[in-house]
Amino acid sequence: MASRSDVEVFWDSGVLLRAGDNLVAFDSRRDRFGTSVLVSHAHIDHLPPSSVEAYATPQTAEIARAKGKRNRFLPIAFDKPLRLYGELEVIPKNAGHMLGSAQFVVASGEGVLVYTGDLNLANTLVTKGAEPISCDVLVIESTYGKPFFRFPHRDEVYRDIVKWVFDVLKEEKIPTFTVYSAGKAQEIIKLINLFLELPVVAHERVARICEAYQKFGFRLQYIPERSEEGREVLFRGSCVYVAPVNAPLMSSRMVRAVATGWAVAWSPKSCSAAFPLSSHADFSQLERYVLESGAKKVFTCMGYAREFAEYLRRKHGIEAQPLRPKQQQILS
Ligand SMILES: [Zn+2]
Repeated sequence: MASRSDVEVFWDSGVLLRAGDNLVAFDSRRDRFGTSVLVSHAHIDHLPPSSVEAYATPQTAEIARAKGKRNRFLPIAFDKPLRLYGELEVIPKNAGHMLGSAQFVVASGEGVLVYTGDLNLANTLVTKGAEPISCDVLVIESTYGKPFFRFPHRDEVYRDIVKWVFDVLKEEKIPTFTVYSAGKAQEIIKLINLFLELPVVAHERVARICEAYQKFGFRLQYIPERSEEGREVLFRGSCVYVAPVNAPLMSSRMVRAVATGWAVAWSPKSCSAAFPLSSHADFSQLERYVLESGAKKVFTCMGYAREFAEYLRRKHGIEAQPLRPKQQQILS
């Protein structure tokens, strides 16, 4: 069993945990032979190279494959402990960020560490919000780790989106969302399916991810753009088009909107609308998570890591710091 001084957490193209001689990598984008690699979710900046064998939920594996990744994925299941190196127990828990997204609870004889991965505590049309987990050491994402980033209630944002779609249709244009093809696109499609009787045409990359969602029981009604029907519907209009971020628009009738947490701060010039619909925790949620976790030590990573750690130290007197590349002892 590793002793307290033998446990370290650090950043190296992902979150690395070393316990004695054993190394566990979370969301690492490097090939590390002999290391156990766990993937929190299927966004491309969290996936290892295709040569790496990694643990992932079946949902994450399916979406990753839909994105063209060729990894060998070893299945893990929510709430089912996985034993690594005989002495570490890792339990995947819902992270609420997208289908299959997990936070990881690592228990050893020396205490409990949680790595959140990308996180969202709010319920959405396609995900159930994550619950804060009690732990000794917390490694938390801090994408929106500045007090400025507070999102409106999701229902308000949904309502604004529906209203915008109506307004664009009235001008005989095509409301077009250019969003993350995995997660956000399915949320927009579900929203349109539930509240508007309108066909949704999905860009090929979005349609591939939708297929993966459907394999896990999600009912999404959309028409693939590549199909004859998809092309006809787009030609006719009176529909919504959902495409990946930065997809070029093929028709001057398409009016573009984005849906991202960054919309509380900025609105791109090329867009008619920007909706603050995020798959991440906003600042209030991040703060709530830290306080409810009861963690004695907090490491922040990604986004406003420095600012969030500084806030936690100043406001709550919590021992918090950004996760650094240099190895750090965590439990001694
Ligand atoms: Zn993500």
